[in-house]
Amino acid sequence: MSAPIVLEVRDLSKRFTVHQQGGVRVEALQSVDLDLHSGECVALVGPSGAGKSTLIKCIYGNYVPSAGSIRVRHEGAMVELSTAAPHQALLIRRDSIGYVSQFLRVIPRVPTIDIVAEAALAGARAPSPATRAAAVEAAERMLERLGLPRRQWTLPPATFSGGEQQRVNIAHALVRPRPLLLLDEPTASLDRDNRDRVIDLLRAERARGVAMLGIFHDEAVRARLATRTLAIRDLAKETL
Ligand code: ADP
Repeated sequence: MSAPIVLEVRDLSKRFTVHQQGGVRVEALQSVDLDLHSGECVALVGPSGAGKSTLIKCIYGNYVPSAGSIRVRHEGAMVELSTAAPHQALLIRRDSIGYVSQFLRVIPRVPTIDIVAEAALAGARAPSPATRAAAVEAAERMLERLGLPRRQWTLPPATFSGGEQQRVNIAHALVRPRPLLLLDEPTASLDRDNRDRVIDLLRAERARGVAMLGIFHDEAVRARLATRTLAIRDLAKETL
């Protein structure tokens, strides 16, 4: 394949030690390999508990892998994420990896438009008025595309429905273009029309060259978005 590589996972393993249960060890992932290129969307498949979310969380940096390598495209080069210093890992994540989690986690009382505009600014210190205005415009365009009613833009999303919160979550992740997008059930709480809207948006991102890795329980979403699948083995069952 000639498209540039965006994510390279080698021999990745993750073991949890559950201290509340006398130090029981859970082998969540073992020796996972994955190459993901620009414009591809890989759907992770496997039974519940197989380790799909754990893989996504290792790549985003929420979990530290027990072994193996995770390299991502950052500023035009492939960089190792699993051993990056915390500050470097934060920069890689901020500039090069988007993440749509199942649930929105935001600071209470901040209006929706500000949450999305802040994501577009990505922590820029003292942005000029023009930069800030451009970020607000980008946020408005994204919320418009996702069909979130304009009257909700100035409200904090805490009281929104699950589907509305999920669209704020997607706007927050997509407003800043990044080469890699991680998706954990991005359409789980959406009705049919909004699901279709999100699929169209993600397909457009993929066509622009964004590489995606996701968990999609909805077969229709997988069929329309994924270019291939990666089966994650259920280690717990295999070792019984
Ligand atoms: P999936 O996303 O495929 O349903 P998960 O990645 O959520 O699977 O879980 C894989 C395995 O790792 C499961 O056995 C789960 O109980 C365990 N696991 C996930 N996160 C943790 C954690 N933070 N601490 C302990 N065990 C965990």
